[in-house]
Amino acid sequence: MTDYSIIINFVYVLSATLFIFGLKLLSHPSTARKGNLLSALAMFVAVIVTLLDQQIISFELILVCFVIGSILGVIAARKVAMTSMPELVSLFNGIGGLASLAVAYATLVGGENLSVFIILVSFVALLIGAITFSGSIVAWAKLSERMIGRPIAFKGQIFANIALLLGILLSAVLICAQPEIATWHYLAIGLALLMGVMLVLPIGGADMPVVISLLNSYSGLAACAAGFALENNLLIVAGALVGASGIILTNIMCKAMNRSLMNVMTSGFQAVQSSDMKIEGEIKPLSADDAYYVLEAAQSVLVIPGYGMAVAQAQHTMKELQELLESNGAEVSYAIHPVAGRMPGHMNVLLAEADVSYEQLFEMDEVNPRIEGYDVAIVIGANDVVNPAARELKGSPIYGMPVINADLAKNVFVLKRGMATGFAGVDNPLFFKPNCRMIFGDAKETLGNLVRQFAD
Ligand code: NDP
Repeated sequence: MTDYSIIINFVYVLSATLFIFGLKLLSHPSTARKGNLLSALAMFVAVIVTLLDQQIISFELILVCFVIGSILGVIAARKVAMTSMPELVSLFNGIGGLASLAVAYATLVGGENLSVFIILVSFVALLIGAITFSGSIVAWAKLSERMIGRPIAFKGQIFANIALLLGILLSAVLICAQPEIATWHYLAIGLALLMGVMLVLPIGGADMPVVISLLNSYSGLAACAAGFALENNLLIVAGALVGASGIILTNIMCKAMNRSLMNVMTSGFQAVQSSDMKIEGEIKPLSADDAYYVLEAAQSVLVIPGYGMAVAQAQHTMKELQELLESNGAEVSYAIHPVAGRMPGHMNVLLAEADVSYEQLFEMDEVNPRIEGYDVAIVIGANDVVNPAARELKGSPIYGMPVINADLAKNVFVLKRGMATGFAGVDNPLFFKPNCRMIFGDAKETLGNLVRQFAD
């Protein structure tokens, strides 16, 4: 061991310890910033000491990439709207996968006298890296509505996937036998990229949060395999940490949606087999003026916010209406669905911004058993998270997902601009229920109208 490698390994242990502390701090909103900073610092130190390694080919090139990457990272993080955060995370996952793919490719093609172990771990990094990259790009396109959010599947897709898998195994055998032949690598990369696309296409919009978290885990596993290929201890540890935390988050989200991971990954195939569902009933629009009379008489009001509240930035106006309702004698509560909005905790962040008391926020499981008791449920720009099709319509792509049972309240007011579907692209029978009234318009304007009625 050279002097340098002792220093490098010592700093690696230090960085790994800081990563673990960083993760611990990230688990609570009050310490999350500190956790982020600590982990970034650990990564920065680790990168610097890695550069002490004797095998560095070009410091200039590394510096140029470092500066370009940092500038792009700062611009992306500063410019991104709160509502587009999951898209950015998805792109970051994809870029992580691409980096591992590049490392694996360079190791396989550029390395001499590679052991079977190094060839195998490099192949794993190449495979998972490519799947993560193309899968993340499809997830990004679905999230940013550059392609439709509905599950895209075709008959026989499972067989196509099996054929792809066999092709990938064949390319693994060919690479092990002749690692110096570039064609086998291109074949493996091409098939793995296609596999990533095929895995994410059949997954519906409502399940995208789970997919992003799963792809995050994949990007960690790819980095971990790349760490073995490069024989870099810190990359192995950091990759394993990302892989494990991604899987834990995936599991938590699946539990929140009452789904198994297998069900999330294959529900699109089932949707193709049964998509001829018609919702019958009549839409009953209501003006804000008329809604005011019902709200004025209400004793208990449940507010159910969703993505549309974030778009309209209606949280402050809702807080004003809440205060007016309370001074009129009503009790106001908020029901928060775990995947309302476009990122975990989205609604909590918005309501905290408007100073809504934490004690008035209730999770779906707390609210559902007593929802029949509410005089009015005001649904603000929520759609999928209050869709009773998840309970009633077997065969619906969101069947089985736990939702807030807004339709069981005595009266439901839905504030949205038109009859557009939510993120999952599924029609909502709630809008046709006899106790539901649609108050069309931008949520902030509608709430502003109601506030003015109360204030007059
Ligand atoms: P949805 O996406 O289901 O629905 C939002 C609704 O808001 C739309 O139907 C839209 O209807 C309405 N809307 C949009 N703008 C406005 C506005 N200015 N004023 C009033 N209404 C507006 O939102 P939900 O919160 O119910 O569900 C979240 C969905 O996103 C779930 O499917 C979830 O799985 C998914 N998702 C969640 C993530 C998370 O981590 N939380 C991450 C990624 C996806 P209209 O256009 O007619 O007004």
